[in-house]
Amino acid sequence: MMTTWKFDTLAIHGGQEPDPATGAVMTPIYQTSTFRQRSVGEHLGYEYSRSGNPTRTALEANLAALEGGDHGLAFASGMAATDAVLHLLEPGNSVLAVSDLYGGTFRIMQQVFRKYGLQFEFASAIPVNSPQETPSLIWIETPTNPMLKLYDIRAICSWADSLSPRPLICVDNTFATPYLQRPLELGADLALHSTTKYLGGHSDVVGGAVVVRDDELHARLSFVQNAVGGVPGPLDCFLILRGIKTLAVRMERHAANAAAVADFLYRHRTPSRVFYPGMKADPQSELARRQMRNGGGMVSFIHSGGEAQARRFAESTKLFTLAESLGGVESLIEIPAAMTHASTSSSPLAVDPALIRLSVGLEDVDDLIADLEQAFQAS
Ligand code: PLP
Repeated sequence: MMTTWKFDTLAIHGGQEPDPATGAVMTPIYQTSTFRQRSVGEHLGYEYSRSGNPTRTALEANLAALEGGDHGLAFASGMAATDAVLHLLEPGNSVLAVSDLYGGTFRIMQQVFRKYGLQFEFASAIPVNSPQETPSLIWIETPTNPMLKLYDIRAICSWADSLSPRPLICVDNTFATPYLQRPLELGADLALHSTTKYLGGHSDVVGGAVVVRDDELHARLSFVQNAVGGVPGPLDCFLILRGIKTLAVRMERHAANAAAVADFLYRHRTPSRVFYPGMKADPQSELARRQMRNGGGMVSFIHSGGEAQARRFAESTKLFTLAESLGGVESLIEIPAAMTHASTSSSPLAVDPALIRLSVGLEDVDDLIADLEQAFQAS
């Protein structure tokens, strides 16, 4: 039954049904660390909440349904999910990653896993003609954080098919969400999320997830999830499940507001460049149409006045709150070079210090544009 449901229905009902014990319509928060065993080893499917918890099971099934996968795994943060994927590799293995990506992902690769013998190559275009090593894992973020650059998932997957042995392909789908883009249907092996962002949707919880189709890959990830232990608590799982119920309607409004904001910035004299994949003038708009349902809720631009004016601008908005993170109902503004991407400074991945990133929320778009206009004037 569930597999025939469309996205909006799955978002609300996937992996969930009224609680058989009480009829509670919302999945209960099973706030327990352990579960009774009737006799040694005889239990109702749960032993200990690091290994499994019913609220987490509902979230994991829901995430799998939304991504068109067979297995979901929930983690304590997006970084814990990334850590679990990188733990699939062996010393000496090589990772080919896109060169514009979340600063924390760059940091865990360079400062944590490199010292255990993994090698990382960052490329601004994939497929690459001759990678330094045949990668064991290809890491794609699309749209990227913070430049909103797109990578063609289907094309990268068919290139990977020609490599021997075929690398695993992981797509960080945080910016797009499964409502806009489903990497597993385009040939990827793993879809990864910071559920902190659009899936949670209300800036009140930190979480992460990975969705796969392959049973063996799922078994290996489940082992890491339990052995390393970066799992979310039941209340966090509940909050993410609740957020997901409105994902489809929120993403429509995020995208409509972001498109209007991008258009305003594009016409304005101050930004020197505007990045929004949903905008006709964006060089990647054709790929965006092919790969994504709409352009999403993130907009970036370079302030033509340079770093100091960009900072003044970001400190002058009244409705856009100066803060890290994204994907909540409220609009946020940040300077990636000094905030979310500080760990890439003095690396080849460093971003323009005058780049401003907007997470466009669900407020009235006229108010958002008026706020940006007054911030241009004030800075
Ligand atoms: N991936 C992307 C694209 C992100 O933007 C972030 C956080 O901003 C992460 C992963 C890490 O997620 P978390 O902060 O939940 O650990």
